[in-house]
Amino acid sequence: MTINAEAKSQTGDPPGQLVSINPADGSVAGSVAMTSVEQLDQVVVDALHAFHASGWKALLPHRRALTLHAIADGLAAEKESLAELQMRDNGKPLTECRAMVESAIGTFRYYAGVCETIETDVTPARGDYVSFTVLEPFGVVAAITPWNSPVMNDAAKVAPALAAGNAVILKPSEDSPLLAPELLRIALKAGLPEGLLQVVQGRGADIGAALVAHPDVRMVSFTGGTVTGRAIGRVAGERLIPMALELGGKSPHVVFADADLDHAVAAVVAGIFGSSGQSCVAGSRLFVERPIYDEVVRRIVERARSLKVALPDEPGVEVGPLASFHHRDRVAAFVDRARAEGGRILVGGAVPTGGVYDGGAFYLPTVIEGLPADAASCQEEAFGPVLVTLPFDNEADLIEQANGTAFGLACGIWSESFKRAWRIGRALEAGSVWINTYKQSVISTPFGGFKDSGIGREKGIDGLRLYAQVKSMYFGL
Ligand code: NAD
Repeated sequence: MTINAEAKSQTGDPPGQLVSINPADGSVAGSVAMTSVEQLDQVVVDALHAFHASGWKALLPHRRALTLHAIADGLAAEKESLAELQMRDNGKPLTECRAMVESAIGTFRYYAGVCETIETDVTPARGDYVSFTVLEPFGVVAAITPWNSPVMNDAAKVAPALAAGNAVILKPSEDSPLLAPELLRIALKAGLPEGLLQVVQGRGADIGAALVAHPDVRMVSFTGGTVTGRAIGRVAGERLIPMALELGGKSPHVVFADADLDHAVAAVVAGIFGSSGQSCVAGSRLFVERPIYDEVVRRIVERARSLKVALPDEPGVEVGPLASFHHRDRVAAFVDRARAEGGRILVGGAVPTGGVYDGGAFYLPTVIEGLPADAASCQEEAFGPVLVTLPFDNEADLIEQANGTAFGLACGIWSESFKRAWRIGRALEAGSVWINTYKQSVISTPFGGFKDSGIGREKGIDGLRLYAQVKSMYFGL
């Protein structure tokens, strides 16, 4: 580890600053000024003023759509530099960072379209009156995002919230603070009225908590861990403001004996080791029907061993570093605990050493077997390249084990039997079900969690409705 990452780990950030460390080599990726709680008050005043004075909410939807398209154009014009910045900010392979910027661009374009075309309800004349609904913005909404895919997660909130006519205060993670200011700069250049989008920086427990508690923030949209989601939910509940929570997962990936094994094995490997496992929908629990268990696990272990773990901009890289050194240490501690629980490490389970590995926050793709489904390692999110494998004997056994966690974000099912895949897909408690595919994402299809994985749905029309309140109007005739 070079001096910069070491200095930060020993003395913390300089006063008033957040320094982003590039986890590939420990160098400084950039820094931002932290927002103080006093400054936050002014930020909210400015956002509220912009909400009322800019005329944004009263604009014809196609005028708002033009600005959202212009933001998408601005992102597209800087696609490569934004992808490189995200790579330095959180260490994801450059190819993945490019895809995340593409996703952000698509999100702005999609909500530009939705805000022009979204329909509301009309009840035709009932005797002497007609009724219909209109959608109205809340005012100032808070958007709080995690570090794993900053530009994509920021866009997933900012685009629909603006499309619905709100002012937005965006608080990115203190571990990946560099992309949000770029989005703000691009939005202003695209003609978004001054003040309507604001970025605040700092630690969740300080500025994040103050933002959620601020009396003029009328709605909160959060993506992050379940513990944080619960803390935010308590405050939002007390304040009676709506909230949308996109939280963690421990998603089951299921392989039946009749599956197309080549595709299944490739998808299981990509589903857990892509983004170094730092994906909320990582398929982190593998369930394999017992007759093919040994073969499937052997093939996955072989593939995991051959994955190219390398610097994020190296051609052919498959697994980059984790997003920070302290997160790498958390993942290592997770695997140590799995060992202590009696898990057998079939591959990985270590920090690689030598060459570039010595300077970065790398952890080897890891497969663990031999743990019962209720072990802590099979219940808790590692948010790293760690797969636990479990055999199952029949559908009832599978459903009980797979549903036996607090989470319910996603699942994957591999079977050539459509009827069985449908049955299992309906039985598993998950917001997204992938059958004979995994981790696909379409902006028009809603996304969100069952159980402790969240409340509300991002993406699709639902994703705009999160940021709007319904007003029912009656007209006497
Ligand atoms: P985190 O919960 O630690 O932090 C997320 C954000 O919340 C950060 O900006 C943080 O500063 C802020 N925050 C922390 N405490 C706060 C508080 N008391 N009040 C207000 N804000 C606060 O999560 P993380 O470590 O940044 O991200 C990893 C987690 O995010 C994982 O659990 C992952 O599954 C989840 N995630 C979920 C989705 C999804 O769509 N469901 C997507 C990506 C990540």
